[in-house]
Amino acid sequence: MTEAVDCVVVGAGVVGLAVARRLARAGREVVVLEAADAIGTETSSRNSEVIHAGIYYQPGSLKARACVTGKHALYDYCASHGVPHQRLGKLIVATSPEEEAGLARLKATAAANGVDDLEWLTADEARALEPALSCTGALLSPSTGIVDSHALMLALQGDAEDAGAMIAFGAPAAGGSLSETGIEVEAGGEAPMQLACRSLVNCAGLGAQHLAGALTGFPQAKVPPRYLAKGNYFTLAGRSPFSRLVYPMPPPGGLGVHVTIDLGGQARFGPDVEWINGVDYDIDAGRAERFYAAIRTYWPGLPDNSLQPGYTGIRPKLVGKGEPAADFMVQGPQDHGVPGLVNLFGIESPGLTACLALADLVAAELGHTDGSDTAILELAD
Ligand SMILES: Cc1cc2nc3c(=O)[nH]c(=O)nc-3n(C[C@H](O)[C@H](O)[C@H](O)COP(=O)(O)OP(=O)(O)OC[C@H]3O[C@@H](n4cnc5c(N)ncnc54)[C@H](O)[C@@H]3O)c2cc1C
Repeated sequence: MTEAVDCVVVGAGVVGLAVARRLARAGREVVVLEAADAIGTETSSRNSEVIHAGIYYQPGSLKARACVTGKHALYDYCASHGVPHQRLGKLIVATSPEEEAGLARLKATAAANGVDDLEWLTADEARALEPALSCTGALLSPSTGIVDSHALMLALQGDAEDAGAMIAFGAPAAGGSLSETGIEVEAGGEAPMQLACRSLVNCAGLGAQHLAGALTGFPQAKVPPRYLAKGNYFTLAGRSPFSRLVYPMPPPGGLGVHVTIDLGGQARFGPDVEWINGVDYDIDAGRAERFYAAIRTYWPGLPDNSLQPGYTGIRPKLVGKGEPAADFMVQGPQDHGVPGLVNLFGIESPGLTACLALADLVAAELGHTDGSDTAILELAD
């Protein structure tokens, strides 16, 4: 049997939930199809929970614009919806003169992205803030913070449902077809159904390419390749030595083995970058040795045997190892020629920070520009 619905969103991670909320509040009838039996079981619950300032990304890129506008919107949203968060601040540390030159480049990139509150700190000034730190200089980012990602998703879900959206759990979108008369989506699971819809938003995260590839009539050349880069985390037994987030200079593919602190005050280290061929969340305890070495470059006091395997998350990358970082890809009707369809590919970090901005961008692709949380017009090219 085919049910008619106005709009189908695939995926109930932080981005799908933000999109569902945004479209429902714009007056659309929204059904979210989620393969798992709960919200946020994949990347949205396997990350650093950092509200990024917008320092690292190529000026003018969607990552940069969505991060900076998304950050402001997210702080406002957390404050107005009682979502636990803290504007802790972060230090990016240099441990050599070459790395100090790198810090200067980062400061310039941040300024080009509209992040103009970074402060230079000498080694002594940095140690006055964080006595356990060893560095030759640092940048302080006061607008970086942390957020309870699950509480954020619950708030987005609540808003979406209050505005009339419905989430179907255990309902994987198996594929569908696109024709001049509209879009048909096949939902599997225990109660399989066909949904005929006017709009389809693919927020399937690691599964986004698979879903786009299973839509008959979609130009397959528009499905980008998918690469997977696992990030492993180790947690610290005992008290956190730092009260702010501490990041080294970023290596290729990630932001370096950094210290984040959760809202309970527990320190965790990671994520590293491990290129993998299939989704697998196991953590290899043997990687701890590399963590000790990386962390001791800026925290020589890290005690032996103090790291425990934590968890992993997987970055949905659009480029492979050694290639320059790719931007977020939000593919709308002008890009692929299919009315009503928006695909989101490569939504790695800072996707959590950017979720409200990405939701506004999707809404704009579908013709809704009123009532946005972010300066949506700044996002449009
Ligand atoms: C290691 C790591 C650290 C990170 N740290 C940060 C950070 O500190 N700050 C930050 O801003 N960002 C961070 N990110 C990025 C952020 O976590 C992601 O950008 C964000 O969570 C992506 O959300 P999503 O909704 O697109 O994807 P997901 O959370 O993966 O959600 C996709 C959903 O789609 C469902 N799904 C998949 N296929 C189908 C289908 N066919 N049918 C139905 N449902 C389907 C899945 O079950 C899943 O629930 C990090 C990412 C990683 C990997």
